[in-house]
Amino acid sequence: MSTSTSHGTGGMVQLDADQLAQLRMQFRGELLTPGEPDYDAARAVQNLAIDRHPGLIIRCSGEADVIDGVNLAREHHLLLAVRAGGHHVAGHGSVDGGLVLDLRDMNGVWVNPARRTVHVQGGATWGQVDRETQVFGLAVPGGVVSTTGVGGLTLGGGIGWLHRRWGLACDNLLSATVVLADGSLVTASADEHPDLFWAIRGGGGNFGIVVDFTFEAHPVGPEVALAAVFHPIEAGADLLPQWRDLALAAPDEVTTRAMYWSMPPSDELPPPIQGQDVLIIAAMYAGDATEGAEAIRPFRELGAPMFDMTEFIPDYRAFQAGFDALASDLHAYWKSLYLNELDDEALAFIHAQGMSRPDPATLIHIPIMGGATARVAPDATAFGDRGAPFMLSFDAQTRDPSNYATVREWARTTSEAARSLNGARGAYLNFSGDEATDTRVLDQQYGQNMSRLRAIKKQYDPHNLFCVNNNITPAA
Ligand SMILES: Cc1cc2nc3c(=O)[nH]c(=O)nc-3n(C[C@H](O)[C@H](O)[C@H](O)COP(=O)(O)OP(=O)(O)OC[C@H]3O[C@@H](n4cnc5c(N)ncnc54)[C@H](O)[C@@H]3O)c2cc1C
Repeated sequence: MSTSTSHGTGGMVQLDADQLAQLRMQFRGELLTPGEPDYDAARAVQNLAIDRHPGLIIRCSGEADVIDGVNLAREHHLLLAVRAGGHHVAGHGSVDGGLVLDLRDMNGVWVNPARRTVHVQGGATWGQVDRETQVFGLAVPGGVVSTTGVGGLTLGGGIGWLHRRWGLACDNLLSATVVLADGSLVTASADEHPDLFWAIRGGGGNFGIVVDFTFEAHPVGPEVALAAVFHPIEAGADLLPQWRDLALAAPDEVTTRAMYWSMPPSDELPPPIQGQDVLIIAAMYAGDATEGAEAIRPFRELGAPMFDMTEFIPDYRAFQAGFDALASDLHAYWKSLYLNELDDEALAFIHAQGMSRPDPATLIHIPIMGGATARVAPDATAFGDRGAPFMLSFDAQTRDPSNYATVREWARTTSEAARSLNGARGAYLNFSGDEATDTRVLDQQYGQNMSRLRAIKKQYDPHNLFCVNNNITPAA
């Protein structure tokens, strides 16, 4: 195999027929190269604005394929991307010309109900995890869309409906089996390779490929107390301050978010919200559904909703998949930051921006943080600063490719303007548009953890093989 090094820190895949045939005999999973029938479907990631053409995709079938794939990339100096759910909005699951190790066929989930632990292979999605854990009335804190990958979400932190009760997804990680840059397979846990274990809880895919996650699971559902209420968007001026007060007073069991969005004119949506600009107030109680109903009631009773979807969502899994359709087939670019407070200035800014979004598919998303998430010290995991009670995410999205440049510019200028709000700081790196190249944002988010992260990177990946991510460069 010959390579060139014209792209990033690695080279392109250039294979002749004999070399490809040899690799096909070596790997158990499928290999796909440009022009082959399944190649285009395999190279696509969630964000339609990302259109990358890898030189080779290996659909890994297990640890052995991952190890051989890592060795192949290292020995031939190939630019390497690792793909699980393919949801990273910056397209970190793919790469032009290089090698993609696609983990999607490694999606096994095994629940141990007695110990309340769950083993999850590195390419599984949260929908696959929820399906197995809910059999036992258990759940692992994950995301709010069922097709998002466990891999990227957990390694970058992970917020959803359970984080205020039980912490980020990465806080619920008990151990991980990791293929390192030198092709070795190690366990990372509090007892084994503790520095690596620290780094993968927030430091992303910088340190190796996780082939197996072991999580702690918690009793949740199937029935849960929740709120999914749609208001006319103009009502946000009155409702957002009220929602903030409820959110700040809520117990840890309650996680809530507010969203300025527009519903598509789809027959599959209830008539009152079809094609409407809306403020969505959503909340869930992580605990007993009957007890939770009282805690959730104020979120349902806010204002005069145009539609209350709550009663139509039968259980936890349905809630977890509730945004799936709205979140697909989009050209997307996201920017986020954290806020210490939603004061009058911040509320007025958010409402004005929410009312003037540049595309119906673009949303402003305000999840509440705090609770268990904030009780973990910033240096206890790589994730960094956890002190802010609110996140503010500008999810610039469109179904019209010709509007993509406009929505992306809106996300950039609006998030930059938001940085002058009181106590604005950092960024949620799982929601990062182009922070991969913006070391200021990485430095700000990781803070004092950055020098330790770079030292661990030097130890585990000194030549930065794992570079298609929010990249932490090895210490000098
Ligand atoms: C529709 C949508 C909904 C979302 N909802 C949420 C949410 O509710 N909560 C939240 O916290 N985030 C959410 N996110 C953001 C999400 O956490 C990130 O996009 C995350 O990176 C997705 O992980 P993935 O495995 O799907 O992505 P990929 O693009 O496949 O991977 C992302 C990064 O992680 C690395 N990676 C993935 N798996 C592994 C592995 N096993 N070992 C090593 N490295 C790996 C990849 O190399 C890449 O750098 C959402 C994103 C989208 C598009």
